[in-house]
Amino acid sequence: MLSNLKPQDPDKILMLMEEFKADTRQGKVDLGVGVYKDPQGVTPVMRAVKAAEKRIWEEQTTKAYTSLAGTPEYRDAMARMVLADVPQDRLASVATVGGTGAIRQGLELARMANPDLTVHVSDPTWPNHLSIMRFMDLPFVQYRYFDSDTRGVDFEGLKDDIAKAKRDDIVLLHGCCHNPTGANLTLDQWHEVIEILDRTGAVPMIDLAYQGFGDGLDADAEATRLVARSLPQVLIAASCSKNFGIYRERTGILMTLTGDGGARDMAQGAMAFLNRQTYSFPPDHGARIVSTILSDEALRNDWKDELEEVRNTMLGLRDQLASELRELSGSDRFDFIARHRGMFSRLGATPEQVQKVKDESAVYMVGDSRLNIAGLNRDTVPVLARAIIDAGI
Ligand code: PMP
Repeated sequence: MLSNLKPQDPDKILMLMEEFKADTRQGKVDLGVGVYKDPQGVTPVMRAVKAAEKRIWEEQTTKAYTSLAGTPEYRDAMARMVLADVPQDRLASVATVGGTGAIRQGLELARMANPDLTVHVSDPTWPNHLSIMRFMDLPFVQYRYFDSDTRGVDFEGLKDDIAKAKRDDIVLLHGCCHNPTGANLTLDQWHEVIEILDRTGAVPMIDLAYQGFGDGLDADAEATRLVARSLPQVLIAASCSKNFGIYRERTGILMTLTGDGGARDMAQGAMAFLNRQTYSFPPDHGARIVSTILSDEALRNDWKDELEEVRNTMLGLRDQLASELRELSGSDRFDFIARHRGMFSRLGATPEQVQKVKDESAVYMVGDSRLNIAGLNRDTVPVLARAIIDAGI
């Protein structure tokens, strides 16, 4: 029976990681996989995370099951972090296995509510969005998102395309720090998106995987909060992998906002049911780290400080790269790198140019010319800038 299995397409980013490991050249630079690295190339355990783990180790007296939805402490803390003013009467939530688990459960929930659903998703988007939907046999269409001339958002294209969404379709939006492009909507543009969603009756699902990596913890949630205030139904899939640096703990949350208490209770029940069918109880360790940090003022402040250091490091690298490229190219055509936000920027280079950068300069970025800004440091920025110019980008 198992011999009937077909080979799966390998994940391109993970393949690139393997290729990078096997490269023996001195001074190679990995700008592939989406993991934050400090200037020494290390993905550190954050100070507050270490302190919270110590506290948990000292104080935890049982590892018995929690609840299908995860602990109320975690869900409340996350709702406050993401939404600030929490509309308790409209909110349902479950802890999930990372942000990926939240996306998967959110799509399952949407399909339970509307079996005729189409999902509208940005072109390009995080490849796993598409792969999950293909696996689920969930119909999807892509809306225009990236303008390859300006390397900003093709907002007219986006509006035209999402206006075609039907009532109770899902429109999947990145809440901040768009992956893979780094190009984001302004708040004014979010207002316009909300108007379209309101008119069509399509339901937004917001993927919030990088809160705190763009313009700040609150600023990065501003669009999500606006959507939550403005529309009757919203799904939010948030991840703690990046902003708490707890990638392997698999810590995420699915939140839904509904019109009234009855619908909220129904959503809560369906979401707990989905957890039970998939993995029963969600993982607790990462969630407990997060709730320990967010509920303690000293730990919370220390975590926020460190998150700001991370964010400012990335902004500094963006500015440095844009200014090196301004000098080398004698133009401002790379200034978009300083305007982009989050861990990624899409350069808008051809696959051949990306290959040339890899072959000649040992700098690895994803084939669609996405580069992980956090893979750089002050010394490797000039190497990348030179390689970009030499490859004719
Ligand atoms: N959404 C986006 C856009 C992402 O980039 C990621 C992580 N690469 C996720 C969701 C999921 O993150 P995780 O499952 O690791 O929490």
